[in-house]
Amino acid sequence: RIVLGIETSCDETGVGLVRLLPDGSVRLLADAVASSVDQHARFGGVVPEIASRAHLEAMAPTARRALDEAGLELSDVDAVAVTAGPGLAGALMVGVAAAKAYASALGVPLYGVNHLAGHVAVDTLEHGPLPARCLAMLVSGGHTQLLSVAGIAEEVIPIGSTIDDAAGEAYDKVARLLDLPYPGGPPIDRMARAGDPNAIAFPRGLTGPRDARNDFSFSGLKTAVARWVEQTRRDGREVPVEDVCASFQEAVADVLTAKAVRAAGDLDVDTLVISGGVAANSRLASLAADRCAAAGLTLRVPRPRLCTDNGAMIAALGAHVLASGAEPSPSGIPADPGLPVETVVLR
Ligand code: ATP
Ligand code: MG
Ligand code: FE
Repeated sequence: RIVLGIETSCDETGVGLVRLLPDGSVRLLADAVASSVDQHARFGGVVPEIASRAHLEAMAPTARRALDEAGLELSDVDAVAVTAGPGLAGALMVGVAAAKAYASALGVPLYGVNHLAGHVAVDTLEHGPLPARCLAMLVSGGHTQLLSVAGIAEEVIPIGSTIDDAAGEAYDKVARLLDLPYPGGPPIDRMARAGDPNAIAFPRGLTGPRDARNDFSFSGLKTAVARWVEQTRRDGREVPVEDVCASFQEAVADVLTAKAVRAAGDLDVDTLVISGGVAANSRLASLAADRCAAAGLTLRVPRPRLCTDNGAMIAALGAHVLASGAEPSPSGIPADPGLPVETVVLR
């Protein structure tokens, strides 16, 4: 069966197509993404009105591109999945409206699914079915969460999250104060390669013995970087951007991987999935690989293109929901900007 997935929660218009095989596994057929990121860059963050308008313009052409890429026609589609939330209200509405139109025109079931669960589900396109139980760490522009997963369509339970900024948000804010372009992850990742990760000892938030084991905090780190940069400028010295990037990146990767590996041990699972835009980070991937190997954990990280927002992740999650035998969502589903991660599919 063929599942069409639609993603419009933020600034990427994504349409993906996957095939659900009889054994419950999923294959990627197409992944078309149109981004309005360039239109937001000069504002240093996503402007909701601009994102909604860009989704409207990109929706139909992106769907066409996905179908062409897969060599399929709309009539080949057996189910439609769409991001129902969380995300920007106006942006979500465009995708939900389009999905309702496709599903009702084709007479196929509609599934309103969770964007965050989609970030985890996408890994099955790359590395096959998930084990019965695993730990997922979602690190994206708006979220930093540890999730206990027992079947991606069945049970996703948050066991910890950031108490202030998301990891991606910290990257974007630090990039801004170093005058690097938005989004900040890719340029910081690049600059860090030429820097010394031990040049500056930036703080590791919430890692004290009395701190919440599975929660994160990145706003203190961002402030520490800001202070360090200001002081250096005040002293009339040149800011060693590469060293600042490398040291900041090391602090983020250190905390994320240490907490994730420990939580996997607490949960007694043998697999850690890391996903979301920040999972594209080269240092996070290498440090996670080292620490998972040392702890005897299997590490799964989707390729970078699948880590950031796309339609294939929603198609993949839709396919798993379909395979689980869940009822389709009601045809009048709303977009829910605050949809909690536990709600994998709208009922
Ligand atoms: P959410 O999924 O929480 O709604 P989002 O969808 O906007 O948020 P993603 O698209 O998953 O987030 O990820 C975007 C974030 O990933 C940005 O903050 C960006 O800076 C960060 N990012 C992208 N590439 C890298 C990288 N190589 N290193 C670190 N961060 C990165
Ligand atoms: Mg984005
Ligand atoms: Fe996302």
